[in-house]
Amino acid sequence: MSKKLLLFLILAFGFFILPFVVSAQKPEDWEPPERNGVYDVPGRKDLKVRVFVHERPNQSPVLIACAVDNNSNAVTGETGWYLPTNWTYYVNPSVPSSISSNLSTIVENSFNAWRTPLSGKVNFNYAGTTNIGVKKLDGKNIIAWGRTSGSALGVTYTWYYTANHQAAETDTIMNKKFAWGWNEFQCDSSYYDAQNILTHELGHWVGLNDHYTDAYVDNTMYGYGSKGEIKKDTLTTGDINGLSSIYP
Ligand SMILES: [Zn+2]
Repeated sequence: MSKKLLLFLILAFGFFILPFVVSAQKPEDWEPPERNGVYDVPGRKDLKVRVFVHERPNQSPVLIACAVDNNSNAVTGETGWYLPTNWTYYVNPSVPSSISSNLSTIVENSFNAWRTPLSGKVNFNYAGTTNIGVKKLDGKNIIAWGRTSGSALGVTYTWYYTANHQAAETDTIMNKKFAWGWNEFQCDSSYYDAQNILTHELGHWVGLNDHYTDAYVDNTMYGYGSKGEIKKDTLTTGDINGLSSIYP
C-alpha cells in the first residue's frame, strides 16, 4: 500500500467514520457529565437531562452538625418537570457496610418523607434490587452507591421530556468514598447520614431545585450537606409549598 493511500485511509477514518461512530452511540450507553447543568441526550432530541451535584459546604464555618431541625417558610423552587402518577425504583444493594443492614429502612424512610405530601398524586413503588450502578438512560430509576467525581456526596440525574416536562428517568448515585451511617433517632457527626442526603436527592426526582442561600439553610432542598446533619429527613413548610405548586 502506498504511503499516500495509507494517509488517505487514516484521514478518511478520522474525518468521516469516527464522528459517525461517536454520534451513533446509543442513548442508553451515554453517561451524562457529573456537573450541575442541563444537557442534550445523544440520539434523543425529545429529552434533556438535568444533573444535580450535592456538595459539602465549601465556606466556613461548616454547618453545625446535629443542629436542631428548624422549620423554614422559604419556598423551594421548581426544576420544571414532574413525575407521573406511578414511579418505580430499584435499589443497588452494594452499599458501604456501615449502612447495608439498614438500607431498606433508609430508602423507605426517605421515600416516605415525599409519599406523605404526594399522597394520591405520585405512588412510589419499590421494584426490587438491581446491580446497575451507573447513571444511564436504561429504563430503570435507581438508587446506588458508586463512584462520583470530586467531592460530591451524591449526584442525581433526571431525564425529562421537553414537550410535556414529564420525567422519563431518575437516577441517584451516592458517593461510596465518604463515611456513611444512619441512626433513626440521633445524629452522629462522624458520618454523613444516608437518609438525610437521600431524602434531599429524592426532592430532585419530584422536581424541586437546590438552594444555596442562608434563607434556605433549614430546607430539605438546601444544596449543601454536612456530617451529622439529619434535618433534611423532614420537609419544611417551604419544601411542601414548593411541592404543592408542582402537584396542585
Ligand atoms: Zn441537590
